[in-house]
Amino acid sequence: MNKILIFIGLLLLTNLNLLARENNHLEDTSLVSNRLKLTFRHRIENIKYFTIKKNGVIKHVYDIKNGVLLSGKTIKNLKADRVRSLRIGQFNQNVLRVVIESKYFLEKSYRVKNRTLTIYLPAYKKVLPKTIKQIKKYHYSKKRHNKLIILDAGHGGRDVGASNKRIREKNLTLSMTLKLREILKQMGYRVLMTRAKDKFMNLKQRTDFANRYKGDIFISIHVNAAPIKRTPKVKYEGITVFYFSIKNTKRIKNRRIRYRGKKVYTVRDYKQMTGYWKRIHAKSLALKVRSNILTHLRKRYSVNDKGIKRKPFWVLLATTMPSILVETGYISNKNEVKKLQDKNYQRVLVEGIAKGVNSYFGL
Ligand SMILES: [Zn+2]
Repeated sequence: MNKILIFIGLLLLTNLNLLARENNHLEDTSLVSNRLKLTFRHRIENIKYFTIKKNGVIKHVYDIKNGVLLSGKTIKNLKADRVRSLRIGQFNQNVLRVVIESKYFLEKSYRVKNRTLTIYLPAYKKVLPKTIKQIKKYHYSKKRHNKLIILDAGHGGRDVGASNKRIREKNLTLSMTLKLREILKQMGYRVLMTRAKDKFMNLKQRTDFANRYKGDIFISIHVNAAPIKRTPKVKYEGITVFYFSIKNTKRIKNRRIRYRGKKVYTVRDYKQMTGYWKRIHAKSLALKVRSNILTHLRKRYSVNDKGIKRKPFWVLLATTMPSILVETGYISNKNEVKKLQDKNYQRVLVEGIAKGVNSYFGL
């Protein structure tokens, strides 16, 4: 009798063991932004994914072989953007089924890594940061000291830039950039300059420098000049902040961008090179710097705002980090050139830029 009981007991145990090996219990479920992560006790053997379309709604179905819900109760309380319903339940003894109902197709449906199944919900594209607030959260810690800022004083050496009588752009940009470096360093940033003295550097050398040192942002300082053939209604006075964006430059999408007579990049290459991330950051930086220059300068001086603008300048294009170019004023304008030579004005102006940098990093 005892022997039989032991035999039955052993039989039961082996059966249970077999069951335990086959059943792959769902141990953890998490939903972070657009990712639904299911972690199982064992390695995931097999997933079947298919969709069913009905009345404009797509059912995304994921069947996990040997998946078992510990509680046995269907999970229904998960909510996500652009998802009508989300259920995780036992389809049958051997299959755990996840059903996502949505009007949207999935950019990328799922990924399996050992014990974890990651399902990408339709919000996939949307998790990229859009507002300035989100950008801050997404990329930056609150520490300044690890941020490297590349400053670029426009022109230099034999390239004098714009001029008005004896006043040269290259000297004004260097003087302002040196002041900006000092202020940013005081604030706790790391700063490198493409040139810190009056020497010639071509544009590629400047962007190569910035890319080699992997700056977090790049700021180029220039002084504007009115064109020889002036357009009567345009006021050639004030501050402009440039950044490069692909969005409104469809016209030049396939145009070759020339550099020293050579064809280097197409705008399309650029888009691939830097993508969405750099573009949205550059715009954010441009906005912050512009508004901070204006509010800071206007405490003491009157200044004309020419806004933020997009242009395919080489330094904005070939840098791998978010980059802007600040035209600090017009050398051709009588009032402005006077101010631009004034050390105090220069200081207040670059303080505005530094404040804009702070604001961009969320400080
Ligand atoms: Zn210039």
